[in-house]
Amino acid sequence: MKIQINKEAIAERFMRYVQIDTQSNPQSGTHPSTEKQKDLSRILVEELKEMGIANAEMDTNGYVYAKIPSNTEKNVPVICFCSHVDTAPDCSGTNVKPILHKDYDGEDIVLPDDPSQVLSPVVFPYLKTQIGGDIITASGTTLLGADDKSGIAAIMQATEYLIKNLEIKHGEIKVLFTPDEEIGEGTAKLDMQKLAADFGYTLDGGEAGSLEDETFSADGATIIVNGVISHPGYSKNKLVNALKVGAEILHALPTNEWAPEATEKKEGFVHPVRFEGIAERATLEFILRDFEDEKLKQHGEKLRAIAEDVVNHYKGASISFSIQEQYRNMKKILNQNPEVVAYAAEAIMRAGLKVKTESIRGGTDGSRLSYMGLPCPNLFTGMQGIHSKLEWIGVNDMAKSAETIVHLCMIWEEKS
Ligand SMILES: [Zn+2]
Repeated sequence: MKIQINKEAIAERFMRYVQIDTQSNPQSGTHPSTEKQKDLSRILVEELKEMGIANAEMDTNGYVYAKIPSNTEKNVPVICFCSHVDTAPDCSGTNVKPILHKDYDGEDIVLPDDPSQVLSPVVFPYLKTQIGGDIITASGTTLLGADDKSGIAAIMQATEYLIKNLEIKHGEIKVLFTPDEEIGEGTAKLDMQKLAADFGYTLDGGEAGSLEDETFSADGATIIVNGVISHPGYSKNKLVNALKVGAEILHALPTNEWAPEATEKKEGFVHPVRFEGIAERATLEFILRDFEDEKLKQHGEKLRAIAEDVVNHYKGASISFSIQEQYRNMKKILNQNPEVVAYAAEAIMRAGLKVKTESIRGGTDGSRLSYMGLPCPNLFTGMQGIHSKLEWIGVNDMAKSAETIVHLCMIWEEKS
């Protein structure tokens, strides 16, 4: 069946969503981390209701839940499509002015509000795949917010399509929009009972056709250095300064390997993210990443050994070392339900694209969701240059993303 997603409509929808400031804030400690994220969530609920989904609602934590009822006799697993409303704290999301560049010609695009921001196929070779199509950028002073409003636009457009085209048979479909993904709290207040879905897909990926079924496994590590304090005027051979010991631990870390700046592809790393303290006591925080859980564990042990080795040179000083589990590689869970990824691959092919199976050197809400009982790979939306002023997206890719969602709904029904 030919699925015709209206490109003007999805572009217009997307450009409307990105103008709403939804930046999250890692320091706030509240849920959602910023109230303004609800500005978009409220609009999404209204639009879902206008489409005829009366059950659409936003809860107090800013999560949007909606259910498209099944229209088939068959017993089909409940599938959820999920995107996040927030944008990254790294780059301003206030007063985003989206610009639609029609019929992209393959040349550099100078962003008008800051001409030093130039979108060039030299930097983004993927731009060449969009020649002849329309692309959308910001104006030079903000990010665009394609991450992840392109996912939202794709889900909303696909939802509208399913509702208007009743000949397309599908099981029960859940729509989920979460806050605070960018600060790692997208699932913090998610009500799995309320969601009540069997399998999910996040729409939060890049190039058209990409299907991500593997993420890092991630831990945090905290080292607290206890120094030995005495009056600095009378401290000879007594005082041990915790800040200096902490600095020495950082200095003892390998530089040509085992660091984000020295690793790629399937290599893991250990990365200090915070160092603070006083002479008496210093705290070092790290993030540890690997695709394999066993290797991740070894990274923690190695870090501990390095720190202990340093502190052992200082009489009276000590460290305490702890590991905090953050998230786990979703592949382990997805391998138990291979049809989830297989159907996504088939949907991508039915949309006329080549499947690019990829591993994410990071986590997604999908990694957490997978371990919360909702196996959940990540699908493309077309977003590029994310978290930066040069963020952009091709309208064709975004439409293909919506088309893939519709195909996926049909495939689950067919195979049930
Ligand atoms: Zn995202």
